Amino acid sequence: SIVEKTEKARAILVHEHGGPECMRLEEVDVPPPAPHEVRIRQKAVGLNFIDIYCRTGLYPNPLPHGLGFEAAGVVESAGTEVRHLRAGDRVAYGQGPIGAYAELRNVPADRVVRIPDGVGFEQAAALMLKGLTVQYLFRQTYRLQGNETILFHAAAGGVGLIACQWARALGVRLIGTASTPEKAALARRHGAWEVIDSSREDIVARVKELTEGRKVPVVYDGVGRSTWEISLDCLQPRGLMVSFGNASGPVEGVNLGVLAAKGSLYVTRPTLATYAATAQAMQAAATELFDLVAAGKLDIVIGQRFTLAQAAQAHEALNARATAGATVLTLD
Ligand code: NDP
Repeated sequence: SIVEKTEKARAILVHEHGGPECMRLEEVDVPPPAPHEVRIRQKAVGLNFIDIYCRTGLYPNPLPHGLGFEAAGVVESAGTEVRHLRAGDRVAYGQGPIGAYAELRNVPADRVVRIPDGVGFEQAAALMLKGLTVQYLFRQTYRLQGNETILFHAAAGGVGLIACQWARALGVRLIGTASTPEKAALARRHGAWEVIDSSREDIVARVKELTEGRKVPVVYDGVGRSTWEISLDCLQPRGLMVSFGNASGPVEGVNLGVLAAKGSLYVTRPTLATYAATAQAMQAAATELFDLVAAGKLDIVIGQRFTLAQAAQAHEALNARATAGATVLTLD
């Protein structure tokens, strides 16, 4: 039998938190997989805004650490206790341990799903974290029923374009926000009912106009600091504010009295880690996601591709609002 050896692979490492320049491409050792792990030869890595929070230290991890939570590739070998995966399987994960920006790595097998035929590596790498997020936001945090009108910020983003399509599939009117006419058009093409140009239009006034004064029962806000007040003002009495990200900075110092003043509002600050905590919950959500893709209702838009060595440039683009749809790092 073949004795498995430690292999060398290139990966991005962060030795101190900071700007994109703190990301270093290095050669690291990848040991044989532990009993519950699979070793994955990665083909594409999904970029997410959370990677920026980890790089800057807003979300702290012990140094030095890798970056990234989402990737797709081929199982090279499986640990002795792994039952549902084997060498040669095409797989993906969206909530792995930090360190997805790598050519080769070991991941706990219960975080990994098999990719259906017809879904490519880049698509899968762009779909898992973002799609699982939309699944819990739309199906669990606030269970959309259809025939509702909702507000979703950054609708042309990676998570946003999946949200637009999922809303359309549910029969939900999604009002998006986007900062340029091009991004607004992209969100519309992917199912947004209306898109507000956040750089020119008054979001609250437009939401009131579009809903004939009723406003919305739920706002999904991944932008954070700069839209917090705006989002609350778009909610109906007893509406739900889903604050799920910090692209413009974290929301801090909230006075709870503001929720009373604006109409007995609810607020939640959810994270995928909670919703995909068990392998079973994660697998069920992934199945729902792949079913939508198979039904032709969800098209994964890869807006930007970079190499592993260009990961810092990819971060700059994401941070500068210069991306639309998903961003992937391609490996070969
Ligand atoms: P996006 O592709 O959506 O990129 C972020 C977008 O936010 C930008 O393109 C931009 O769109 C908008 N934005 C508004 N203000 C700023 C700003 N000051 N700086 C940068 N961007 C800004 O990223 P992702 O799809 O990766 O993630 C979207 C959000 O969802 C993030 O906040 C992320 O953290 C969050 N998220 C949360 C999860 C959770 O479980 N809680 C899981 C996954 C994602 P525009 O130019 O149109 O305004």
